Formats: sequence, C-alpha cells, structure tokens
Amino acid sequence: MISTKFIIITGGVLSGLGKGVTTASIGLILKSRGFKVSVCKIDPYLNVDPGLMNPYQHGEIWITKDGYEADLDFGHYERFLDIALTNKHNITTGKIFLSVLEKERKGYYLGQTVQIIPHVTDEIKSQIKNIAKMDNAEILLVEIGGTVGDIEGMPFLEAVRQLRLELGEKNVIFIHVTLVPIIRGEQKTKPTQHSVKELRSLGIQPDIIICRCQEELKDETKEKISLYCNVDKDAVISNHDVEDIYEVPIILERQNLGRILLDKLGLKERYNKFDEWIKFVEKIKRIKDYVEIAIVGKYTKVVDSYISIVEALKHAGYKLNHKVKIRWINSERLEYDENYLKELMEVDGILVPGGFGKRGIEGKIKAIEFARENNIPFLGICLGFQLAVVEFARNVLKLKDANSTEFNPNTKHPVVDLMPEQKRIKQLGASMRLGEKMIKIKKDTLAYRIYGSEITFGRHRHRYEVNPKYINTLESKGLIFSGISEDSRAEILELKGHRFFVATQYHIEFSSKPLKPEPVFVSFLKACIDYKKEKRNAIKNKK
Ligand code: GLN
Repeated sequence: MISTKFIIITGGVLSGLGKGVTTASIGLILKSRGFKVSVCKIDPYLNVDPGLMNPYQHGEIWITKDGYEADLDFGHYERFLDIALTNKHNITTGKIFLSVLEKERKGYYLGQTVQIIPHVTDEIKSQIKNIAKMDNAEILLVEIGGTVGDIEGMPFLEAVRQLRLELGEKNVIFIHVTLVPIIRGEQKTKPTQHSVKELRSLGIQPDIIICRCQEELKDETKEKISLYCNVDKDAVISNHDVEDIYEVPIILERQNLGRILLDKLGLKERYNKFDEWIKFVEKIKRIKDYVEIAIVGKYTKVVDSYISIVEALKHAGYKLNHKVKIRWINSERLEYDENYLKELMEVDGILVPGGFGKRGIEGKIKAIEFARENNIPFLGICLGFQLAVVEFARNVLKLKDANSTEFNPNTKHPVVDLMPEQKRIKQLGASMRLGEKMIKIKKDTLAYRIYGSEITFGRHRHRYEVNPKYINTLESKGLIFSGISEDSRAEILELKGHRFFVATQYHIEFSSKPLKPEPVFVSFLKACIDYKKEKRNAIKNKK
C-alpha cells in the first residue's frame, strides 16, 4: 500500500503561466510545515528528454546531479525546495512509449492488444508511484506540462484521473493553474471557466484553482470562479504579479493555501517554519543598491535561456545587499559594431555563459579580451571558460590561429579540443560529458580562497575540453588552472594580476540556492561591487 499523498498540478488557458514556480512554491509551503516533499514533471512531448531542443523554443536545459538534461522547471524545484532531482523525476511521452514498446517486444503483454488505456496509462501511474517510493515522499507534486485540451496531454490526464479513483480523494488532489486576463479594467473569468469545463469533461474536478493575474483577484472574481467552476471560494487563489518570484510562496500562503492543502489531504500541521523565507523576501524588498552585469550571449532575446545564471546572480546579490541589473549584450553584434563594445565600459562585470555552435563566438572572444585588458571583473561558464583560453592563446601567447576544434576543426592550435571519448560517440542525445564530478582545487589559488576547501562538486554538459598539451604554456604566462576534475580535466581557470578573472568548465549556476548562494558568484559580484565603488570614487576625485 502506498502512503504518499499526490498533488497533481495542471495548467489551463495558455502556456508560460509560471506553473513551475507555482508548483515549487506549493512544495516550499508544505516542506515548511514539516513534510517530506518531492516533485516530478510530466512533459507530454515525444522527445525522450529535452536535451536536443533549441533554447529558443524551450529555454534553458537544466542538468541534474546524475547528468540528466531536464526542463528548466527542474531549476525552480531544486532552488525553492533545496533538493536534488534525477532522470527518474522527469516523465516524457518519449520515455513512456519507449518503455511500453520495450516491454511489448519482450513479450510482457503476451496475447494482449497494447493500447493507450490501460497499458500506457498503467505505465504512467507506475512511474509516478515509483518516484514516490524511491524518494520516500510523504507528498509528491506532479506537474503536468502543457495546457489541458492538448492531444499530447490526454493519456497523462487520464492516468491521473485513474490514480484518484484508485487511491481516493484524500490521497490525490488536483490543482488547476489558469489565467485571469484584465480587459478594460475588468478581471475576466471566462477563460478559466472554459478551461475547467475542459478538465471536467475528462473526469477531473479541480480541488483548488490558482489564477495568474496582473493584479490581485477581487473578491467578486473569486466568487464567480467558485460558482462556475464548482470550487470552494477560499480554494480560489490569487497568484498575481510580484516583483520577484521568491515572493510567490508568500502570497499563496497569505491566502491560507497551506492549511487548505492539508485539510484536503487529511493531514495535520507539524510545525510551520516559514519565517526564514519571509525574512529573506523582506530583506530583498529593502535593498536599494544595485550592480550591473553584462551577459554576453546569442540567445539574449529569450531571457529564459539563461534563467539559472540570472537567478544565481540574484542570490549572490541578495547576500551582498545588492540587486543585480542585467545588460544583455548580443555577441553577434559585437562582431561588427565597434561602438557596441564600448557599452562594456559602462557595466560593473562581464559574464560569458555556456553555448553551442559558431554563431557569435568571435563577439564573445572580443568581450573577454575587453574584460582582460581593462581589468573589468570577468566570469566565464563552460563555453565562456573555453573561449577565455582561446582569447588568451591568441592575444597573449600570440598563437593567432588558436581556436576550439568545435569552431575550426583545422586550426593549427587546437587549445580546446573534443574529448577523446567524444570522438567515438555516434548518437547525439544524452552523449555529452554530463552530470556531477568531483573537482580538486589547488592550494594558494583564488579558487581555494573562494571555496575554502580542496574539493568541490560541479555539474557538466560539454563535449570539448582544454587541450592538456597547452596547459603548461598557458600557466607560464599567468593563466592558472586552479581546479582539475577527478578524471583529470581542466575545470577552473584564473588570471594572475587581474582584479577578478575566473571561469569554470562546470555550471556553477546549477548549484545556487536563494538562501545558499554559490561561492564563485558571490566572489565575482563582490569584485563587481568593489569595482563599481572604485569607478565612482575616481569620478568624485576628478571633480
Ligand atoms: N560547446 C561547448 C562544448 O560542447 C560548450 C558547452 C556549453 O557551454 N555547455 O564543450
């Protein structure tokens, strides 16, 4: 008998309503009351995982500890709940079908016609229950991606309908997240009504409706939704726009969502330790100072592509009592527009994030050169790390042709090259160097001072590495590799004599939590704040 309680979160009206943040917030509210909470995400697409999807379409890829390439909502879950999720926590149509078809070939369904109901729905239910068991969860949140009414989502909605029938109404509850648009000053409930109608036609009656809205839901709006959608009025919850996503749990909690959830699940509150979070958000609201960071990338139009970096910068900033303003710098424009490069003089720090493919590479290299030459705080991540090596090889070692073989396979100086094991790989999906590795840090380096330890752990997603043949030459000119992984790969670099020039092969942005910012980000921002003060003083002294 399974003792986990399940909360199923569906979405209506349109996508992009921030269902991931809502789910993470619900989790935080329950965790603060003393329950062991876990989360899984259902993505109703045929891809096995989102690893090969274009960031323009789906935003950032989140890497789990075990090296799974996940949807960006995993970032919200891990950040809000301070947990580590895995491959198993993401159910996709691709994975479900793959598993059903493998079973069919093995003869598991011998004699039967394999169908969506019951075979596919059984597979879905069994994977959901396995997650609950694996995590020993008291409450498992199940977020169903997409919008109710999509053909792709049907087998999943049918499976969770059955789950409620099977386990009972105190063990499975439904939360529907919708949109209440404002038209000529009026909060409109019709889209919510239609979306709930659609859900009910599939046999699912929501227990709670959470409405995204630009402003707080009026009492009469809640009344109307309650009446038309057959939900208690106090179970219609306003999830209105806030300045910072970390406020979302607080506005939900203020409407008693925690108590309502426990009532519906037949659970008793153990304690309520929400104060730390409230204090954190109150602190954010008081912060007046800010620091401005340039992020140099090619996906700068889709902010979601770098969401974890932005969040990690925010976390570090909050610790240092600063808000972080981002200046998006388009790496391709840097290649032809000389004046644009000067914008980098106005910011307090330059960050070059990860990326794939040739477009915008030369622009990123220019930005790195600018940071190095002008002593501006610089942080490189993954591709940013690799390009810092290329820039240094070209401009300091004077190897004019130096490059990564990703961008010039015939370069005379392949300072960044494909990892040997990557040369043998034939399939594209899930084939990079992925997941968490241990990194050894050299004493007497900046990295050691930052971490205060001889080891750290970081998550990876790359095919290329710094070519070991060049490491001695690079180091002899001051580019020090202060972190090396357990499998002997260059992981951290730092430049001697620069105010802050650090880059990592691993993705530091996946280790940052709102209340536990990642140390490299903190140290970078500290350097940016000092640099900003110095600039200000220099101007004052001139006057
Ligand atoms: N394209 C580079 C590689 O594959 C960097 C990857 C990244 O930035 N995530 O090694």
